[in-house]
Amino acid sequence: MQILDGKALAQKIEEKVTLGAKELKVKTGRVPGLAVILVGHDPASQAYVGMKKKACDRAGFYSVTHEMPDDISQDAILKTIEMMNLNPNIDGILIQLPLPKHVDTTKILEVVAPSKDVDGFHPYNVGRLATGLDGFVPCTPLGVMELLAEYNIDPKGKNCCVVGASNIVGKPMAALLLNANATVEICHIFTDDLKKHTLAADVILVGAGVINLIREDMVKPDTIIIDIGINRTPDGRLVGDVDYDAVAPKTSYITPVPGGVGPMTIAMLLSNTLKAAQIHAQEEN
Ligand code: NAD
Repeated sequence: MQILDGKALAQKIEEKVTLGAKELKVKTGRVPGLAVILVGHDPASQAYVGMKKKACDRAGFYSVTHEMPDDISQDAILKTIEMMNLNPNIDGILIQLPLPKHVDTTKILEVVAPSKDVDGFHPYNVGRLATGLDGFVPCTPLGVMELLAEYNIDPKGKNCCVVGASNIVGKPMAALLLNANATVEICHIFTDDLKKHTLAADVILVGAGVINLIREDMVKPDTIIIDIGINRTPDGRLVGDVDYDAVAPKTSYITPVPGGVGPMTIAMLLSNTLKAAQIHAQEEN
């Protein structure tokens, strides 16, 4: 069993992005800029935004966080996004999810300019991913693909079972694997007999948010396991969706939680923002 070390790879990518940002500044005078919209006071969202801001600082990016109260109107959020769409110092716009219930998340995401959509949630970029065209790809599944590539794991022809079918994790994960010529199955809360599907898989990629969803008896020997879930146990520990201690010895490769997919997500956000800045710099010249 080998551990897929997302923390180490994320650091390597961050160094590359930092260098890329320096080069861009020397060549064009442009500093990559990320704007984050944070609505409300959810502690997890605040922690994620804080981590993203620190990463921007480390990479030499400009970043700004628009903190808004829980009861902010949808119109006010839309207006802020429209302003950022026009702001030449901003290359990437990130809406921290989830948004409060009175806000239509789809409407909000659709207003972000596709060229600044560094989270890859705009239907334009979702469509490009589905058709295998270049665009912005959601950071978490993109990070998983980078991690697989780093360890020379080629999904081509492998049976991949994606557990979880959200727009943020499961669906783009499945699209990326399909584009890489894997055979892909997507399971979700309504899947009958999850074990039947996971047992047939060469690679299990799970992002459901359920502690111990993947148990030892659900995995065949030498499976590759990518644990995307982030859960907090009642005693405050961070764990994934896999019963790690029991499952890990049976696998060929596995991501730990923490230190697996999580750090890759932030590294990919930096990478996507640099890509947006490079495109914007080219358009200016
Ligand atoms: P979500 O609630 O939007 O989606 C969860 C998905 O899992 C749904 O498709 C649901 O049908 C499926 N699911 C739930 N229970 C299931 C079960 N018992 N069996 C099979 N499928 C089941 O959540 P999300 O935003 O996609 O996040 C999923 C997990 O990934 C969470 O733990 C979240 O914290 C984590 N996450 C991690 C990162 C990262 O950087 N590592 C990024 C985003 C999300």
